[in-house]
Amino acid sequence: MSNCAIVGINWGDEGKGRMVDLLTERYDVVIRYQGGGNAGHTVINEYGKFALHLLPSGIFRQGVLNILGNGVALDLENLWIEMEQVRSQGVPLTPENLRISDRASLLLPWHRQLDGLEEARLKDHAYGSTKQGIAPFYSDKYQKKTLLAGELFDREALKAHAAQLLEWKNLTLTGVYGAAPVRLEELMAWLDDYGEKLKPFICNTTKVLRQAQQEGKSFLYEAQLGALRDLDYGIVPYTTSSNPIAAYAPVGSGLPSASVDEVVGVVKAYSTCVGEGPFVCEMFGEEAERLRQAGAEYGAKTGRPRRVGPIDLVATRYGVEMQSATAIALTKLDVLSDLKEIPVCVRYELDGQETDEFPFPTLLNRSKPVLTTVPGWQQDISAVRRWEDLPKAAQDYVEMIEKAIGCHIAYVSVGPERDAYIYRP
Ligand code: GDP
Repeated sequence: MSNCAIVGINWGDEGKGRMVDLLTERYDVVIRYQGGGNAGHTVINEYGKFALHLLPSGIFRQGVLNILGNGVALDLENLWIEMEQVRSQGVPLTPENLRISDRASLLLPWHRQLDGLEEARLKDHAYGSTKQGIAPFYSDKYQKKTLLAGELFDREALKAHAAQLLEWKNLTLTGVYGAAPVRLEELMAWLDDYGEKLKPFICNTTKVLRQAQQEGKSFLYEAQLGALRDLDYGIVPYTTSSNPIAAYAPVGSGLPSASVDEVVGVVKAYSTCVGEGPFVCEMFGEEAERLRQAGAEYGAKTGRPRRVGPIDLVATRYGVEMQSATAIALTKLDVLSDLKEIPVCVRYELDGQETDEFPFPTLLNRSKPVLTTVPGWQQDISAVRRWEDLPKAAQDYVEMIEKAIGCHIAYVSVGPERDAYIYRP
């Protein structure tokens, strides 16, 4: 069976959760391979409305195995809170349908604390972090100074390792930030509490995946954020601290030899961006506020108003290329339905020259959008389920994007509900 990655093409919040929830029907295993609880994947289905942060969006499907891979930032506390929330809405969560990699590193309370302290120190130069501890966590992981989930099974060794890390971490907390030191008993109490709750789910997921692969099962890799937030290929330093690109999926999932046969890139019908950093196509004023309200563009995790703009064909083409997308899901087309004319960012202007290429990160601040407008359709399309029933102007808009980004748009989403989409074979 073929494996598929569902990834963001732009700055995140494209509607990936909604697409994973839809497509999980066809896959046996759904794996989150990077990032942490700073994601906010909104899913609406028969159980209700959910903003999933760390749980894979396949948990709503019976018979689907969900895995948190070694590449994620495993925040035991927030994961447990999320699991309790989801369970309270009637969704079963057991080791039958959820497994956690024993090689996932633990995001500890001090990572969240350090995230807040560093953003406060940066003041006007803050990166706009969600303060979930993601950047401090990944820095520590790459310094090999984290605890692995599998260490929870040997308390004595865990305590000794935790004590070593704590001694080192307290140098930063007290020396750099003037904060109170963390005590070992505090940390161990936290690890004991959440460790006991989550140990039943932790195992060697590489083994599980290898077995599944041998049985011919198919994998769906679920990414967080989008290509422009990729640590290596995004708008550095306003990126996340991991790799949301599809190429990282087998590494962060736990089976590096697994293939990624298809990549569904999710693109929003207009642009949004949360937090700081260059956003070339940004719109301001009343026009922006109308679009923000029409699209309910407020962060799923933080409630922050998202910055908005027209679809950015330069950034989107770059995102498609970085993700090696084989098909596109265009979401939220319905949000543009009221517009008489729809603005589109077709190129950038950089130092007086027009360009189709997405610039080096430090040049983005000097780039300006080259805009055009295309006719709107001005009618409600949220009930449309067949391509031929879409108004001609909406079809033209989709085809214009498809041509500009060089990738087939296979799904057009016209509402947040599971079935609110049009399939274009
Ligand atoms: P993700 O992080 O990529 O999963 O995206 P978010 O969940 O942060 O943001 C997408 C938002 O748009 C969610 O509130 C979805 O319910 C909503 N959504 C997704 N697709 C559509 C669509 O086609 N139309 C409308 N109106 N809303 C959508």
